[in-house]
Amino acid sequence: MKAATYHGVRDIRVETVPDPKIQDSNDVIVRVTKSAICGSDLHLYRGRVPIDEGFVVGHEFMGVIEDVGRSVNYFTKGDKVLVPFMIGCGVCVNCRNHVPASCTGGGGCFGFGKAWGDLPGGQAEYVRVPFADASLEKAPEGIPDEKILFLGDIFSTGYFCAEWANIKPGYTVAVFGDGPIGLFAVASARLFGPALIITVGRHDYRLDVAKKMGSDIGINSHKENAVEKILEITSGRGVDAVLECIGSDETLLDAFKIVRPAGTISFVGLFVQPVAIPMLDFYLKDLTLRGGICSAKNYITKLMPLVERGKIDTTAVITHDLPLSDTPRGYKLMDSKEENAIKVVLTP
Ligand SMILES: [Zn+2]
Ligand SMILES: [Zn+2]
Repeated sequence: MKAATYHGVRDIRVETVPDPKIQDSNDVIVRVTKSAICGSDLHLYRGRVPIDEGFVVGHEFMGVIEDVGRSVNYFTKGDKVLVPFMIGCGVCVNCRNHVPASCTGGGGCFGFGKAWGDLPGGQAEYVRVPFADASLEKAPEGIPDEKILFLGDIFSTGYFCAEWANIKPGYTVAVFGDGPIGLFAVASARLFGPALIITVGRHDYRLDVAKKMGSDIGINSHKENAVEKILEITSGRGVDAVLECIGSDETLLDAFKIVRPAGTISFVGLFVQPVAIPMLDFYLKDLTLRGGICSAKNYITKLMPLVERGKIDTTAVITHDLPLSDTPRGYKLMDSKEENAIKVVLTP
């Protein structure tokens, strides 16, 4: 089959690799119908994730079941399925506690190398998915792939960030990040009934998309001081909730400056280095800080009706739909933000 593989910093190639086969009785083989390049794929593209040369990348994908292991009960050949980016065994203590992203029974993330579960990824024609019964969800009939694909990762992650931010009707919310997850955090925050959503980003074209997804005010931090501007908008009080969707020390520390006393900071950005949290601010302001990696499995069916009923236009973030053979160009576009790229989807 054809698949996108890692060959070093900024070197993704589409090559012919062996077709995946059923290895365990709980496995299925999925024929990929749509996949995408995620912002977190850029971590490996930029060389920040140790990954073997030739490893198949990609963790956002969906498709049709082609082959089924003998212990799989819920799925049969021909089912269209959604795949959460991290899968769990379904039976370990963390899976039973609904945190499959912390599975200790052999789960992991697709396309991130040996350290993350050794699961070849979804920017490919076929993928082996272990623990199929515990991990997959059936896709509804008659809805285009690109509308539901993001439930397996970025939509669920954006929602998770909003859910943990304790947003109540009438609240003022600041979202740091105008990337795909920030945009879905905006759309998700809107579901909780805030009076005002402020999005902080670095690109006017992305802040325009944020407005389409429910943001009221966009602040381009290249042009304005976001902290000063947010304090001005909130008459010095600060916002009720901050959603950090970047994983940057700078924005996390800014969050402490703009959150009101007894407010909440929720983060889904990936912090690879320790950050010195201002504990005195935390203490004196009675803050809540929550965050982490989203177990997307928990949200796929919960959020599906919002897509089916047209309450959220998930396709608003898609700027490029490329053939799988153009995956290297897709990475370059997402990395450089050329052609006003936001989200690249791939069709095998
Ligand atoms: Zn992702
Ligand atoms: Zn598990």
